Amino acid sequence: MPKYVYLFEEGNKDLRDLLGGKGAGLAEMTRLGLPVPPGFTITTKACTYYSKNQRFPPGLEKQMREALAAVETKAGKKFGDAEKPLFVSVRSGAKFSMPGMMDTVLNLGLNDATVAVLATLTGDERFAWDAYRRLIQMYGRIVTKIDGAKFDAILEAWKGKTDGGRDTDLTADTLKAVVVEYRQLYRQEAGADFPQKPYDQLRQAIVAVFGSWMGKRAIDYRRFAGIPDDLGTAANVQAMVFGNLGGDSGTGVAFTRDPSTGAKGLYGEYLPQAQGEDVVAGIRTPLKIAALRDALPSIYGELEGVAAKLEAHYQDMQDMEFTVEHGRFWMLQTRTGKRTAQAAVRIAVDMVKEGLIEKAEAVQRIEPPQAIELLMPRFRSEEKAAAASAGRMLGRGVNASPGAAAGVAVLDSDLAETLGSRRFRVEGDGDPLSVVQANVAAAKRDLAEATHLPWIARLVPEAFVIRTDKGRWVEFGQWTELLKEGERERPVELRLKVVLTRTETSPEDVHGMLHAKGILTARGGATAHASVVARGLGIPCVVGCEALRVSYENGTFSLGGHSFAQGSYVSIDGATGEVFADLIPAMEPDFEKETEFRTILEWCDELAAPFMVWANADYPRDARRARTFGARGVGLCRTEHMFFETERLPIVHEMILNAVAARGRANAEARARYLAALAKLEDFQRTDFADIFRAMAGLPVVIRLIDPPLHEFLPKYEDLLVALTELRLRGGDPKTIAEKEEMLAAVEATREANPMLGLRGCRLGIVFPEITQMQVRAIFDAAIAVKREGVDVHPEVMIPLVGHVNELKNQREALEPVAKQAMERAGLAVDYKFGTMIEVPRGALTADEIAKYAEFFSFGTNDLTQMTFGYSRDDAEGKFLMKYVQDGILPYNPFQTLDGIPANPGDEPRGVAGLIAIAVKLGRKAKPDLKIGICGEHGGDPASIAYCHARKLNYVSCSPFRVPVARLAAARAAVRTTTSRDK
Ligand code: ADP
Ligand code: MG
Ligand code: MG
Repeated sequence: MPKYVYLFEEGNKDLRDLLGGKGAGLAEMTRLGLPVPPGFTITTKACTYYSKNQRFPPGLEKQMREALAAVETKAGKKFGDAEKPLFVSVRSGAKFSMPGMMDTVLNLGLNDATVAVLATLTGDERFAWDAYRRLIQMYGRIVTKIDGAKFDAILEAWKGKTDGGRDTDLTADTLKAVVVEYRQLYRQEAGADFPQKPYDQLRQAIVAVFGSWMGKRAIDYRRFAGIPDDLGTAANVQAMVFGNLGGDSGTGVAFTRDPSTGAKGLYGEYLPQAQGEDVVAGIRTPLKIAALRDALPSIYGELEGVAAKLEAHYQDMQDMEFTVEHGRFWMLQTRTGKRTAQAAVRIAVDMVKEGLIEKAEAVQRIEPPQAIELLMPRFRSEEKAAAASAGRMLGRGVNASPGAAAGVAVLDSDLAETLGSRRFRVEGDGDPLSVVQANVAAAKRDLAEATHLPWIARLVPEAFVIRTDKGRWVEFGQWTELLKEGERERPVELRLKVVLTRTETSPEDVHGMLHAKGILTARGGATAHASVVARGLGIPCVVGCEALRVSYENGTFSLGGHSFAQGSYVSIDGATGEVFADLIPAMEPDFEKETEFRTILEWCDELAAPFMVWANADYPRDARRARTFGARGVGLCRTEHMFFETERLPIVHEMILNAVAARGRANAEARARYLAALAKLEDFQRTDFADIFRAMAGLPVVIRLIDPPLHEFLPKYEDLLVALTELRLRGGDPKTIAEKEEMLAAVEATREANPMLGLRGCRLGIVFPEITQMQVRAIFDAAIAVKREGVDVHPEVMIPLVGHVNELKNQREALEPVAKQAMERAGLAVDYKFGTMIEVPRGALTADEIAKYAEFFSFGTNDLTQMTFGYSRDDAEGKFLMKYVQDGILPYNPFQTLDGIPANPGDEPRGVAGLIAIAVKLGRKAKPDLKIGICGEHGGDPASIAYCHARKLNYVSCSPFRVPVARLAAARAAVRTTTSRDK
């Protein structure tokens, strides 16, 4: 006969599967000798049996009765007894907490007879009848499924007849009257009397707990949270202790550290003369836990002792429930406390310093999304609390993408783009505040003109964000604070903050989402379109705010009982799912001031070593930011951005036109112009590279030679054609016409049916060797010049899009002599490498040949994914990929997480991950010390990082902003590998 029932003293904390989280906690506390009211746990196995067979498993009832007898002995009371009656609660508790999904019934065992005994024993008639009416109410609602509002209505009516109108104003006599009406209601709704036999009450309450496991709400929640259905819930039966028995009684919840800041010390709430459920239900406003210290100092001391003991025992912050009955302290629950990202980091660092946990454990305690959250703007908790107490909290949805965003609600994506994409230069001299205000006014005029929306005129300056001359975007309020502190960050640009507010989003909304500060939707969950896109873009997002009603026709929306017009202010907290009316000031985090987070990340680097995180940086400012965030090198510096700047574009045009002309015919004049243009570009490039080398002093910088097809630098064919036709019709200036004709010819000559598979990457350098030679000369001249300044430089030249070894051979042979010449000319050598990007499947499959000409590989996983699937990313993500993921054709978006990562590290990788595995193996076989990394967006994705770590890559390279998350993910991967090897 299986054991279905465990007395608290028989279980322990490791039996969560069987006893659920609550049961395991109660058992562990009992074992530790803490004051826990006696009780027992019915296992999750019994629930699973019940779910299948709609009845208790054989033997359960017998075990229950035996356990109950043991509890009676311990308590010195008897269930249903006429002299010393025992009362119990039935509390559900699954392995994973399922907030608000399951229920608890208190005060079981009360009936017409025992209520009188309770009144006599306690000398408090009012209390006894209040407990009885609570039982009928809870039992009616949870076990018999009577609409709770009907009970509330009766209670409210009686409260209305009292002077004060509160719960506590009900006398014993009125409570008796309430019970009479409750029982009438019960009979009416259930077709039977409220059960008087305590054991029947107990059995039915357990049935209800087991039944709730397969209830719709619970199933929906499990789908959302990814919890399997067959886990089942446990049911805990526990002797009641009453916190509502007079002045020396009460109940509370406490955390061993502050769950929002992480500060050490008890944090929580206490409610005198109340039962546990009153705290949760928010009927009365609880007092700060410090009130307990003043009211009942010895109890407070006891709580402190228990908190210290539990925290040391679990080696983690605990969230506890306790009750005081007539000056006696009881523990009712303990579990690992949920915490904000800030608190998670602070607690992890403090606990390492206190010697409670190891660094390896500390990094496991911080989830990658929390690291992202720490770099996002956020609301101060005081500001949120103030908004909530001012009644401005409107509702709550699913926390889909972290960060705080406040702005004007815009219901239409075109409008969101129009309003959110415009940037306004700040102009004028004088007092900085008046300058900004004047520019806000100008920006509003401009926006009003563009949109004809009357509400634009009413916008406050706080609706705009400010870019400062230090390159940061800061909130208006934050900037005025900087001013007060005497720090003069000059404002240079303004932008309106838009919160795109919709019923849901689709690919047609992406252009609006791109320019929004935040996204709020009524529908969808954590994998809805809005959520996926928002996370990808790093925009705060709340979805599934079901109370939100958007009327596109009227341009209005309603939430939390209020109606708003488009243009109203809203604030969303994407980390918690909260939605507020009005603008709550958000704070941009300052990484340099995040001391604890930086400490954790330093530990991460130690734990992950020799594996490293590098960053993709095209500009010196990216490189500097990457370095601040802890990047150990630049894994991808794309040079083509350098061609796009306004002052350079005409030179780039000149270069391309003549390159094409010089190639077509043996045209010496064109060739001269081509080389002259290249020489001008070389000057620009040299300066760009020098700045990046300086920013990354001492660290390697991988520079990728030009990659995109040439036509991308030229005007659009259609635009040119239109312009030219107009010119001809108007009889325009013949010289201009000739120029345009020449340009059109060049565009035509470089036009491709399928540019992605056309003349790009190393193919460009093979056809136009002068271009890549120019780049290499610029790289080495810059490196030499910077080295002369005393800066340690390590350029690595990366040749893109190699599919055949001969492509690489050709380019390396054309380029390395240029590098050597530069160094010889200068009489100074720099440490350098030549390598290639592995991003064409054929390159991966022939990596052993390719490795002979490369000192390093870098997986360009964006292209590698495109080419392996044969999808063009831009088309796929806009047109069908979302559907693929929703319909389960693909398990996830392969542009976000590497395709084909095996579920178990031991299994064969497939798809893109499989190609990487092959290339690593072949490459290292040919050249054991081959340095291998990955650039591309996957370099910032935790699952992909773990895979790269498992494949023994040397580094991952990601956008600067993702470097901290990547460092954390790398360490977590390293720690998991070590622990699984130890086991
Ligand atoms: P939840 O999982 O929703 O917190 P609980 O089972 O913890 O549900 O119970 C709800 C409330 O009732 C809590 O405040 C808890 O402390 C209180 N409670 C549960 N069992 C007892 C008991 N035997 N004596 C006193 N209070 C109890
Ligand atoms: Mg609880
Ligand atoms: Mg590429």
